[in-house]
Amino acid sequence: MARASTRKAPSRAPAPRKRRAAGNNGQPDYPALMARMERLIEISHTLASTLDQGKLLRQIVDAARELTGSEASSILLLDPHTDELRFEATTNLRAAELEGVTVPRAGSIAGWIVSHTEPLLVPDTSKDKRWDPGVDEMTAFHTRSIVGVPLTAREQTIGVLEALNKQDGLYDEDDATTLTWLAAQAAVAIVNARLFLQSDLVAEMVHELRTPLTALMATSHLLLRPEMNDEQRRELVNTLQRETRRLSQLTTDFLDMARLESGRARFRFEIFRMADLIDECIEIVRPQATERGLQVTTHLEAGLPIVESDRDKVKQVMLNLLTNAVKYNRPNGSITVEASTSPGHVRISVADTGKGIPAAAATRLFEKFYRAPDSDQYASGTGLGLPIAKRIIEALGGDIGLLPAGAEGSTFFFDLPQVARLHALSHEV
Ligand code: ADP
Repeated sequence: MARASTRKAPSRAPAPRKRRAAGNNGQPDYPALMARMERLIEISHTLASTLDQGKLLRQIVDAARELTGSEASSILLLDPHTDELRFEATTNLRAAELEGVTVPRAGSIAGWIVSHTEPLLVPDTSKDKRWDPGVDEMTAFHTRSIVGVPLTAREQTIGVLEALNKQDGLYDEDDATTLTWLAAQAAVAIVNARLFLQSDLVAEMVHELRTPLTALMATSHLLLRPEMNDEQRRELVNTLQRETRRLSQLTTDFLDMARLESGRARFRFEIFRMADLIDECIEIVRPQATERGLQVTTHLEAGLPIVESDRDKVKQVMLNLLTNAVKYNRPNGSITVEASTSPGHVRISVADTGKGIPAAAATRLFEKFYRAPDSDQYASGTGLGLPIAKRIIEALGGDIGLLPAGAEGSTFFFDLPQVARLHALSHEV
């Protein structure tokens, strides 16, 4: 195959040429392209499931080298502070020497790709003015040819993916296209990995999802075993249903929590009667309470004020406290809801006759995902209800907590200003 002898590399992957993908009769080699595609899809799946940035970058360079039949491949990421490109991963044997090495954006091949956000084919580096042999000297690797593409995610170019020295023939536009596909997946994966690192909630979420998912996997696996009898199968299906419900509750709670944490939660104020809201909430939990033989009593101070707040959000908090009072109660126990006022404020409390809260747990109840050690024996839960409630009440200018323990059970309360003004959400729970 003739060596291209252009002095300057084409500024973008050129239009299709006859020799693309090396078909014998000059036609594109579709089976080879399909094989590449399939491999690319496989690699995309791996990339999507990797959140460790170092590992992710190594997978990307390995894939780039393999898919383009190259001797080596590198990723350079743009440092927005210095506007330089830094080698972050390379398949080169002496990769360690390159770690942290930077090249300037101006006057480098990688810089050109980032600035133009276009693929670039350099068939002969020795003839390209942008080529800086300094890096080769450092690694004792002789770069003859390069194909490079920008790494772009969310309309932002974050770096460059390059393949070096095609082993068989010259780089062509199929290589540039393949690398562009890979770069599209890779850039999203890199951005996700970065966002992931920034978000404790997501890290915790993945951790929390693992348990029900493992249970679902193990249970469905058991269901397929021929030796299971009908009774065992019914039990397994019950487990499947319980874990699926838990997953569903987790996703709803995660969303709520994420909205509250990121300040994207919407609050809508309206004027309503607190007494009506309390009655409405009690009616919602009454069937569950009755099922456990629980007596629900209310002591609402006469003349409870009309408040201006976010009714739906206050309802969510109220329901969480009531549901907990049902879940963690003893059979045939009771729940007492009280409401009282002080100037400008209203206080609601929910007392139960349940397992109570051990002193060591009391300070941790409002932490995300915290569940007292024996909670699972009583009921399933996500450990997000109370932290969500705290965020909401604080945003509404109120306060939520646990009252000193009485003879049995526990009493939660929340105070709300009669007229709420939205308060900035604190970032500590
Ligand atoms: P969940 O109930 O989904 O676990 P919450 O955030 O609502 O999550 O509650 C966190 C933990 O606080 C519960 O797991 C439980 O250990 C404890 N808790 C909450 N309410 C009560 C209650 N009324 N009585 C005893 N323990 C409670």
